Amino acid sequence: MPAAVQVFAVVLRHGPISRVEVTARTGLSPAAVTKAVRPLVDAGYLTERPDERLPSRLGRPAMPVQVVADRTFFLGVKLTADEVIAVRTDLCGGTREVVHRPLTSTAVADVVDVIGEVARRLAAGHEVACLGVSLAGDVLRDTGMVRFSPFLNWRDVPLAGLVSTATGLPTLIENDVRALTVAEHWFGAGVGVSSFALVTAGTGIGCGLVVNDLLLPAGELGHVAIDVDGPECYCGGRGCVEALAADRVVLAGCSAVVGRPLSMPEAIELGRAGDPAVHAVFERAGRALGLALAAVANLVGPERIVLTGEAVGGYDLYADQIRQALAAQAFGSAATCELVVRPLPFDEWARGAAVVGIQDLITRSGAARGSAGSVTLPAR
Ligand SMILES: [Zn+2]
Repeated sequence: MPAAVQVFAVVLRHGPISRVEVTARTGLSPAAVTKAVRPLVDAGYLTERPDERLPSRLGRPAMPVQVVADRTFFLGVKLTADEVIAVRTDLCGGTREVVHRPLTSTAVADVVDVIGEVARRLAAGHEVACLGVSLAGDVLRDTGMVRFSPFLNWRDVPLAGLVSTATGLPTLIENDVRALTVAEHWFGAGVGVSSFALVTAGTGIGCGLVVNDLLLPAGELGHVAIDVDGPECYCGGRGCVEALAADRVVLAGCSAVVGRPLSMPEAIELGRAGDPAVHAVFERAGRALGLALAAVANLVGPERIVLTGEAVGGYDLYADQIRQALAAQAFGSAATCELVVRPLPFDEWARGAAVVGIQDLITRSGAARGSAGSVTLPAR
């Protein structure tokens, strides 16, 4: 992680904070912290607070720094198959405004039109540095391409370029689970740990991984096979986590044992009312999810796993099975990994897309210092 991002993240979480404390918390040298802080102050992203001069351990006055939340704003968009959820955040990642729009068509041009409309609405009257768009699928941030999005039925769509043209804003795209992982790492349940995993369970089973404070590009947990004799998966594999624990599988199982089609709220209600057959379907999915979490724990050894997604709405029906399977299958110290369950609405996913933009801005600010001695301000 670039020094500028490390420093910014620490100031964000702990500011106002002295450089000495930033040095202690980042493990960077005092010179590196000073180098990282200066361009961020020059650009107005951080401010020094001369009115709160405190004696430092070095005998010189310490000038605490903090983030200037209103310095610039960021837009974040989360795409689902039938809705656009968009937020405007400040530089601290605080959500200032939220807009929801239904999607009546998943044609690329129609989706870009809706994003353009919500972006104009959210940006009106504000300086916006960047727009982040997140969606499920194979999304390449570096090239701005959506390689494949199953739920939108998109292949090789240059989404970042199209949205940037439509909005006039610098645009980043990212896989939605990874974007949410970035936001949780900075502001949510991932704060304070350098390695953690975010697992989402619902329509699909996704996973974002942060190891040594770095976001990994991988995380197709949904298609990790955990049952060699399990059912076929739509991906062509067999016994995948998704084929055993995705919402549609749980719902189909509950409908089959009851003998009529159920909605998820109905299935959850029957399970809570004590219907043993329905409960057994949830328990089976819970064991599959627990094995999936154990796979993550064994491979990566995160200090914490955050479980979220639509499926945590019925978490009480299979919490025991998830925890038992995780404890039974995680090896050695991996079994000590903490499991945190967090319902995160789609507004939070949209915020994740905005936070990707914040990190990008700070990364570029730090990088610009080394070459030109100045900060590259975002294009308007
Ligand atoms: Zn699969």
